[in-house]
Amino acid sequence: MAKMKKTCSFCGRSDTEVAMMITGLNACICNECAERAQQIVAEELKKKQTTSALDLNTLPKPVEIKEFLDQYVIGQDDAKRFLSVSVYNHYKRLVQRDTADDVEIEKSNIIMVGRTGTGKTLLARSIAKLLKVPFTIVDATVLTEAGYVGEDIESILTRLLQVADYNVQEAERGIVFIDEIDKIARKGDNPSITRDVSGEGVQQGLLKLLEGSIVNVPPQGGRKHPEQKMIPVDTKNILFICGGAFDGIEKKIAQRLNTHVVGYTASQGASRLDRENMMQYIAPMDLKSFGLIPEIIGRLPVLTYLNPLDRSALRAILTEPKNSIIKQYVKLFEMDGVKLSFDEDVLEYIVDKAVEFKLGARGLRAIVETVMMDSMYEMPSRKEKTFVVTLDYARSRMENANVARLQAT
Ligand code: ADP
Repeated sequence: MAKMKKTCSFCGRSDTEVAMMITGLNACICNECAERAQQIVAEELKKKQTTSALDLNTLPKPVEIKEFLDQYVIGQDDAKRFLSVSVYNHYKRLVQRDTADDVEIEKSNIIMVGRTGTGKTLLARSIAKLLKVPFTIVDATVLTEAGYVGEDIESILTRLLQVADYNVQEAERGIVFIDEIDKIARKGDNPSITRDVSGEGVQQGLLKLLEGSIVNVPPQGGRKHPEQKMIPVDTKNILFICGGAFDGIEKKIAQRLNTHVVGYTASQGASRLDRENMMQYIAPMDLKSFGLIPEIIGRLPVLTYLNPLDRSALRAILTEPKNSIIKQYVKLFEMDGVKLSFDEDVLEYIVDKAVEFKLGARGLRAIVETVMMDSMYEMPSRKEKTFVVTLDYARSRMENANVARLQAT
């Protein structure tokens, strides 16, 4: 009997045209169609999993999100609350999108304003640990207008695609934290901006992303080039969280408040102001005076602030967070079988130094590192199994240290 010619039931090619043919009861499938089918199954299953993962009943509620953040970030209650609600609403919007409703919930991108080293990035990183959607942090300072040296604005979405394993649907429900948004403020009356590339152009580019549109994203990031195949990504459901120090904005807030309180409530209003922390009175118009274009401000409807860190906050940062600096050092020593402890006055001393050098929270680590360097060098080879850091020891280490280097941290 002559051998039956087999054809693939999906693409119609015969077994002489393909590498392999799998035969079933009443049908055949070639190796290529089988591979393609396997891909489709994997993609569909992944989609199903992500959709079912976003069930509002199982998602963390705002209070739970804040409690989670409390484990890592000291203080900053307002910012935590705003973030928790925004992330929860983001989930809601995604769930709603899957159930197709008439009332469309619009996204509320967020902007967080606060001095450097007060926890903006830490908040973003901590929230990332909890999220059930792709999340990435990008730095606005690397972005430039098309045609200049730097990265195209679309490259923000490249990172998101990368963390979503190039699953476009997944990326389209993600969250992006854009750090240092203040660095793309319009040049002019703001002395801190020394960039030679117009920040306004970058802002215009960013606007497209924030307001929701289909953006062609270069899969490898960086600069677009003509031969590169672009991936279209819809930003409508991507939540953007922006952060920036906005150095000098306190003056603009003060100016605005002073001009506003002129009148019959002037003396009363002005005296009630907490001049040490003007950031808490921030309003969208201050961002405009700083150099953000009104369209961008309009697309960042949730505006929140971070408080400057006082002594007690710095002291708490040393020991309280789940992965606090001191806990990390205790762990490092524990791995060598050494029980490390710090006298209470050492911790106060470290805070004093951070305040004295105006290093804020960022400096705490550098100071602890300086105090601990010699012991980290010697202890693993020594016999002693305990090490207590005393005030005298900490002082002597700091006196030997190159303080100039510390201050440059
Ligand atoms: P920002 O983004 O506001 O400039 P970061 O979040 O990068 O500041 O903070 C720098 C470091 O300081 C963090 O890694 C963290 O160790 C510490 N830090 C700052 N603020 C806080 C805070 N509120 N709670 C705990 N640690 C903080």
